[in-house]
Amino acid sequence: MFFEDAYQIFSRPLSNVDCGEKCGPFNEYGVPVCCDINLIIPSAYKEEWEFLKEKTDLWQPWSSSNPIDVDLENDIQDGQVLLKCLGYQYCQRSFRTLTCRAFPFFPYFDSRGNFIGLVYFQEYRELCWIISNLSVVTTDYKADFQQAFELLFKQYPESKESYFQYSSYIRVENADSGDKIILLDFEGNVYLLDPDSEISHQVGYEDLESFGPFSITNDLIFPDENPE
Ligand code: SF4
Ligand code: SF4
Repeated sequence: MFFEDAYQIFSRPLSNVDCGEKCGPFNEYGVPVCCDINLIIPSAYKEEWEFLKEKTDLWQPWSSSNPIDVDLENDIQDGQVLLKCLGYQYCQRSFRTLTCRAFPFFPYFDSRGNFIGLVYFQEYRELCWIISNLSVVTTDYKADFQQAFELLFKQYPESKESYFQYSSYIRVENADSGDKIILLDFEGNVYLLDPDSEISHQVGYEDLESFGPFSITNDLIFPDENPE
């Protein structure tokens, strides 16, 4: 079964830090941001949903009576459905969707169609602690990410096309805003990528910006983090 295999490949957490404890305190009721249905509605491929439905009671289809929310269904990739889980206290890690596992990243393609790394969703940069602390994302996680998405692209070529289009959209958005794209490759390096020329320059993680509440907390040393 394809999703069973993909889940096995892509099962490691993205870092050795429990990052839900880093972003949760800044979110309502302490809920980790990517598990808060008020902020992010998880999506799954229809076949993935069929697989999950058979295996677990963790998920149910998401629905809303608010007409504004109908737009959300138009925003997801073709062949996907929106889902709602039981909540972070009842998470079953082995049945997290691919989108749960990938957050806050998406597979980034250059304009020649090469899958060259991971880029984060910019709209979450003031909410997701990882985005302000990219150095903690392990190389093992990035290798799993690459392998799982390559499998997905083989099985569902339309998903490759969607991420290719999305990457191109991000280049246009960043060119308009004047922002560079921050790209993590699969070897542990990080680059600032010019959205117009697509020329990238390697930088150090310590050179990257942090955002929102995390720009303050990164400057503080907490007693339990002091190496002394
Ligand atoms: S990935 Fe980001 S949003 Fe999700 S738990 Fe970690 S820090 Fe929070
Ligand atoms: S399945 Fe787990 S990781 Fe995914 S949204 Fe629910 S609580 Fe979060």
